[in-house]
Amino acid sequence: MTDVAAASTAYQNALKVIESVEPRIAGAIRSELTDQRESLKLIASENYASPAVLLTMGNWLSDKYAEGTIGHRFYAGCQNVDTVESVAAEHARELFGAEYAYAQPHSGIDANLVAFWSILAHRIEGPELDRAGVKNMNDLDEDAWETLRKKFGEQRMLGMSLDAGGHLTHGFRPNISGKMFHQRSYGTDPQSQLLDYDAVAAAAREFKPLILIAGYSAYPRRVDFARMREIADEVGATLMVDMAHFAGLVAGKVFTGNEDPVPHAHVVTTTTHKSLRGPRGGLVLASEEYAPSVDRGCPMVLGGPLSNMMAAKAVALAEARTEEFRTYAQAVADNAKTLADGFLKRGTKLVTGGTDNHIVLLDVSAYGLTGRQAESALLEAGIVTNRNSVPSDPNGAWYTSGVRLGTPALTSRGFGADEFDRVAELVVDVLSNTTPGLTAKGVPGKAKHVLADGVSDRVHAASAEMLEANPLYPGLEL
Ligand SMILES: *Cc1c(COP(=O)(O)O)cnc(C)c1O
Repeated sequence: MTDVAAASTAYQNALKVIESVEPRIAGAIRSELTDQRESLKLIASENYASPAVLLTMGNWLSDKYAEGTIGHRFYAGCQNVDTVESVAAEHARELFGAEYAYAQPHSGIDANLVAFWSILAHRIEGPELDRAGVKNMNDLDEDAWETLRKKFGEQRMLGMSLDAGGHLTHGFRPNISGKMFHQRSYGTDPQSQLLDYDAVAAAAREFKPLILIAGYSAYPRRVDFARMREIADEVGATLMVDMAHFAGLVAGKVFTGNEDPVPHAHVVTTTTHKSLRGPRGGLVLASEEYAPSVDRGCPMVLGGPLSNMMAAKAVALAEARTEEFRTYAQAVADNAKTLADGFLKRGTKLVTGGTDNHIVLLDVSAYGLTGRQAESALLEAGIVTNRNSVPSDPNGAWYTSGVRLGTPALTSRGFGADEFDRVAELVVDVLSNTTPGLTAKGVPGKAKHVLADGVSDRVHAASAEMLEANPLYPGLEL
């Protein structure tokens, strides 16, 4: 339990100190709290970390260089960082039941980069060194080194397509993963919009990827990771699961058995700041077999770890081990169901027809709107969301036809079934009173929106009532 009075004093004093150096930054920190307190945050990837997690980030652990691994650093004086990283890794291993945990990645993207290169090191570099009869890359002669470099560039990755809910780091061209790997995607069934495992298996048989990657940012359903592992095994692929979005539901034991990626995947990556409710950061979990190559994250793709952030991860993971967190995680999933039902009974179309995780993906095309127009109309009414593609989106990745909503943040504030049903009502009120704005040529466009008079005021008033009844950081005063 947070000692609210102590946290208030800590922040008041911290802000005084910051103010004396750069008042604009102290001002931005204050007004971010006000904005977060006053908006209906439905962004599926966001949450509210506890004061204990937040306070752990701001201190002198940040000043220490500690390249290397626990007990094996390239700098002197790392005993406290060793403690921090050991506790974070220990909590991560125990919480997720993982054989190995690596707490250094600074973000989800970093965790994925560590995972990709670890898999390449284990699967490609290791056998190549064996073939050359050397232990170390530096001992390869120039020809063997050229052969190895070329092999790295020839590898294949199969991941979920962006418009079905996959992530940019799963092999898409604007991201380095799409430049490192030959990539192919699996989508969802055109009718049900659900993952079609037989289609994934067929794609895997044909494409023979080195890495089969599962996980998503915008797919509102659970995944059968045991089935994904079977597919990976059949074609000799490494199964990597990116649970960045739903790690909180795994930690909170909402996803168990085949829905828990950790016992099934060779390597699992995650962020720590989404449903897991920790600091911004990443983690890699791995089976023993992959652990030695994951440990080479630094110097492979990382420099010095952010020791203050690893400390905050350790605190967040300690929180996630509690019964209270399990109750929270179950509420996140229950609330998503209520939210989805609230839309369905009001006639709003949902991708896959519902949810069984923390995400609800609205298809707003029936309102005659693009995702971009819906997103900006909702924002005008004080509801913060993000637009998102729907499968085979006719409006592409910029304008889109969808709006993604998530329950982790508002559930942290204490929103329950009544509030989430009301949220659906408010969102529907906004969308059904929004029309496309006209372009310079006087025709309906894809970017601008027009929200009918009075809607913003009444939605703001209804939200304010719920937000005040469920305060963010109750008692925390700046
Ligand atoms: C959010 C997300 C990431 C990236 O996390 P960052 O911390 O923003 O780098 C990676 N993969 C998935 C599936 C995500 O949802």
